[in-house]
Amino acid sequence: MTRSIRAAIATAAAVATLAVAAPAQADPFDPRPGSDGAGDPLFPTLGNGGYDVRHYDLSFDFTPVTYDFTGTMRISAKATQDLSSFNLDIDSLAVDEVRVNGEHAAWTVSPGRSGQELTVTPAGGLHDHRPFEVTVTYHGNGKAKPVGAPGWRHMSDGGFVSAAQSSRADTFAPVNDTPRDKASWSFHLTAPAGWTPAANGTATGTRPAADGRTTYDFRLDAPMASELLGISVERQTLLTGRGPHGVRLRHYVPDDQVATYRPIVERTGDQIAWLEQTLGVRYPFDTYGMQIVRDGYGDALENQTLSLFGPNWFKNAGTSTTYTNVMIHELTHQWFGDSVTPTTWQSAWLNEGPAVYYAALWAEQQGTASMEDRMRTAYGRLDAVRKTDGPPGLPTALGGFNIYDGAAVVLYALNQRVGRDDFDAIMKAWLIEHRHGNADSQDFVDNAVRVTHDPTLRPFLEDWLFSTDNPPMPGHPDWS
Ligand SMILES: [Zn+2]
Repeated sequence: MTRSIRAAIATAAAVATLAVAAPAQADPFDPRPGSDGAGDPLFPTLGNGGYDVRHYDLSFDFTPVTYDFTGTMRISAKATQDLSSFNLDIDSLAVDEVRVNGEHAAWTVSPGRSGQELTVTPAGGLHDHRPFEVTVTYHGNGKAKPVGAPGWRHMSDGGFVSAAQSSRADTFAPVNDTPRDKASWSFHLTAPAGWTPAANGTATGTRPAADGRTTYDFRLDAPMASELLGISVERQTLLTGRGPHGVRLRHYVPDDQVATYRPIVERTGDQIAWLEQTLGVRYPFDTYGMQIVRDGYGDALENQTLSLFGPNWFKNAGTSTTYTNVMIHELTHQWFGDSVTPTTWQSAWLNEGPAVYYAALWAEQQGTASMEDRMRTAYGRLDAVRKTDGPPGLPTALGGFNIYDGAAVVLYALNQRVGRDDFDAIMKAWLIEHRHGNADSQDFVDNAVRVTHDPTLRPFLEDWLFSTDNPPMPGHPDWS
């Protein structure tokens, strides 16, 4: 039975029950404050409760070099309880005004455990299940020291790029900063002449703004978690192309380095085709591209539809192709992490495990590295890491070996146990079942059991994900 048929039957049953049992009067209106956290084990005050964001509409006007900015965030949401007040996550943003459904609302800013909490108290409260709209106007400076982790990355030309994962989107705009609250987005980024804004999604046009500035509009229809926010204003050049079955490609590279980066970004189309064939699932969005910055950022990040890269990855691009591994890593995240997003950060292995695994598979097929060697080394290291930093499914923090190579070892063990055909079927079903949604470790275990009809995979995977000791590696009794 498909999900939609199940849902239709459930709805029909609920309606039938209501018709018989519903009392004449509705539930009494009982407004209470929404929670200041979304229950994330690793980030207790990240995100908020009591509402569900449907759409973010961000207007952001940035002045290069001084880093001053003004912003207006318009949030369309739906209450999930009667609300007397609710919170948004912010960090070092100076709030000028808050309106709810067009009316002035009272607000306070208080310290959170990560960044700050903006508590909004609308006149009269908000009813459960009803849509509402919040507009926050604010200003700030991109070089201000944040209360929590810094999300701004400063370029030497006076531009910036956002690196929002995992708790830093709130340094750019008020958001419900939990991966479980995904929403569609639109962006209206304004900058002076000579500066090019970029954002997630599809560019939909430009318009003149005050003082000779230009506003660039973007739209992202597929839902996105705020941690994947990718906005920038840079002296950068837009390169466009087409990928398999018409996927629109657009890349941003530094103005003065187009010749260097053009042959690199042009590999993207073939990489999408390789991953589509390997995963058996089409690229989940209608556009993709790389943003390569000139400096000020040295990592790589899977911002939805627009992966972000520091220049250091490509230093040896003239003599080696190993830089393609990081491209595959971030591209894999568009399926694992961006389309299928963990419900909480405790399940971040579901992002990083596949990204490491498929990049290693790519490297092996390119003839540059052996998957088995990498996994043997990682397996050897993982046992001790389980005890110090937690097992892959229960990390004590983000960013560690346990959720990267350690999680790839879990997938490798699953592949060893069930064989390649079943492994591919498990991964494909995962991506299809949870496309553009949220899921966690337990959902992954359920999915593997359902696809293979093998209930023994439940204790097998739970052991690999949650145990403080390495289980034996199937097919490699000599590994220790
Ligand atoms: Zn990653």
